[in-house]
Amino acid sequence: MRAVTWHGKQDMRVETVPDPSILNPRDAIIRVTSTAICGSDLHLYNAWVPGMRAGDILGHEFMGEVVDVGRGVTNLKKGDRVVVPFPISCGRCASCAAEEYVACDNSNPNAAAMEGMIGYAGAALYGYSHLYGGYAGGQAEYVRVPYADVGPLKVPAGLDDEEVLFLTDILPTGYESALKADVAPGRVVAVWGCGPVGQFSIRSAFMLGAERVIAIDRFPERLQLAERAGAETVNYENTDDLVELLKQMTGGRGPDSCIDAVGMEAHGHSADYYMDRVKQKVRLEMDRANVLRQAIQACGKGGTVSVIGVYFGFIDKFPFGVAFGKGLTLRMGQANPRKHMPLLLDKIREGAVKPAEIISHRLSLGDAPAAYKIFNDKEDRCTKVVLRP
Ligand code: NAD
Ligand code: ZN
Repeated sequence: MRAVTWHGKQDMRVETVPDPSILNPRDAIIRVTSTAICGSDLHLYNAWVPGMRAGDILGHEFMGEVVDVGRGVTNLKKGDRVVVPFPISCGRCASCAAEEYVACDNSNPNAAAMEGMIGYAGAALYGYSHLYGGYAGGQAEYVRVPYADVGPLKVPAGLDDEEVLFLTDILPTGYESALKADVAPGRVVAVWGCGPVGQFSIRSAFMLGAERVIAIDRFPERLQLAERAGAETVNYENTDDLVELLKQMTGGRGPDSCIDAVGMEAHGHSADYYMDRVKQKVRLEMDRANVLRQAIQACGKGGTVSVIGVYFGFIDKFPFGVAFGKGLTLRMGQANPRKHMPLLLDKIREGAVKPAEIISHRLSLGDAPAAYKIFNDKEDRCTKVVLRP
């Protein structure tokens, strides 16, 4: 089959690789009909994630048709259409029993390596390095889905791929970021990053009753998508002091809920940005944390900061005393799509959220190397790429 493979920094290729097959009774094989490139894949593209090997198959946002199931999978059959959440979860450990599928204790065969680095290991992820289990991803014609009785959600007839594909990750991820930010009626929410994840943080904040959402980015097409959802927008390039501006916009208080939907590859012009940049380059620091620092500085007293953008390691100049002094609540982590997929499927069917509106590029699998470049460099007004194998 054909698959998108990683070969080093900014070197993605489309290659012919062996077809996957059933290895365990709880496996299924999916013929992929649609797959997307995620902002998280850009951390692989830019070679910030340890544990990648040349030839690894990428992709954790995918859906398709079941073509084979192991004898332990009784809830799926050949011909079913499914969307598959990005974490791989056994469904039987204490974490899965608590519906914390992304903290699964069993799915990552390389947990010890991860524990050695940061002291713990979460669930394995599709196509996301050997630290996260080394499983082949779904930017391919076919993919093996382990524990297929746990993750995949059957898609009801009548819904196009584009309407449901983002249930794999960015829609529930955005939703979870808003839940973690304590969004509720009357609250003012600020969202850093109007990429695909930020777009669904914004839409979810409104679904949860936010009074106002202030969306921050620098790309006009992304800010326009945020406005379309009802957000007020700020181009951070046009202000010297974003924290002060956010206070002014909120009667001096600061937003009640601050969502960091940017993560470790933040841009900026501040002194801390340049310091992070240098330290990240020489591996003295893993992450560029200027957005996270801003979110803590801007957030109103007693407010909540929700971090959904990905961070990998140690951060310098973390304004912990500010968070402490203001009594902030900090929440963060990989999202747990499986928990929210049924509710969000209903929201899609009701028309409360229209995921396809963020797609700018529909390409074939063979276009993947160019698609990665366009999405990474934010060229051609790119907001989200969907690939059709
Ligand atoms: P993306 O790269 O398309 O979007 C990031 C956006 O942040 C861009 O529009 C960029 O212009 C903006 N940005 C950069 N610096 C900024 C700044 N200083 N202030 C405001 N905006 C700034 O990626 P995406 O797909 O939207 O993903 C965003 C983040 O979410 C990534 O870190 C990704 O890894 C992460 N993510 C996390 C999970 C999870 O489960 N926690 C799941 C999916 C993605
Ligand atoms: Zn993703």
